[in-house]
Amino acid sequence: MIKKIARALLTERQRNELLIFLSQLKSLAYTGDTFYCNCCNKTFSKFLPYGNQPRTNARCPWCLSLERTRLLLCYLERETSVFTPGKKILHFAPERMIRKKIRQKARRGDYIAADLNPALGDMVVDITKIPFPEEYFDYIICSHVLGHVPDEAKAIDEMYRVLKPGGEALVMTVIDLSNPATYENRDVTTPEERLVHYGEPDLVRLHGTDFGRRLQRANAQVEEIDYSLRLTEAERRRLSTGNRERELIFRCVKTTL
Ligand SMILES: [Zn+2]
Repeated sequence: MIKKIARALLTERQRNELLIFLSQLKSLAYTGDTFYCNCCNKTFSKFLPYGNQPRTNARCPWCLSLERTRLLLCYLERETSVFTPGKKILHFAPERMIRKKIRQKARRGDYIAADLNPALGDMVVDITKIPFPEEYFDYIICSHVLGHVPDEAKAIDEMYRVLKPGGEALVMTVIDLSNPATYENRDVTTPEERLVHYGEPDLVRLHGTDFGRRLQRANAQVEEIDYSLRLTEAERRRLSTGNRERELIFRCVKTTL
């Protein structure tokens, strides 16, 4: 009933904000110091389970960040100049807390939060047709997007097109670590079938360990980074940074041919 009323009265953006607010109220039940979320800078007795096959200690009760978002933020803060004013950044399907942190540092107009859904980004952008000129961005952040895009090769080409030489696309996806080849099946078309075949109802493929090769182009260097290995065991446990299936970072640097 409450959901129906909220849907009738509020915009999607307002509903998302309401959801966050309610989560923050509920998070009081998880007071403690066992886990730490670097996205909201708060500690908890535990994180919430999350996923179709629920993962334990996955989601921050306060800001709803996931394992991959906390690990990506560690990487961005420690290994990149994303937070240096003056960098031009295109962020697809922007994670709310990372978006907030970059925006606080970025010069006006330098940071673009892009999504197909206008409620989730500042600009509606189709990743296979990015409305920016060549060699425009220093960074692209594209986490858990390519598994949902039918024409993945076009999306990858487009990202390299708009990157400056030396610019970096930081890409993440769900990976079946037991499969050397990405799995795509044209007969799988409904959300129910996708859930069975790919593990999520809106994926159109399940990447295998060949994902890095799929990102490769003649004018690019691709590096697969398991950033959790650069953290201490204690830090990994406290942040709860996942099991690599969703958290590997592919650093794609555009080179000159
Ligand atoms: Zn948090």
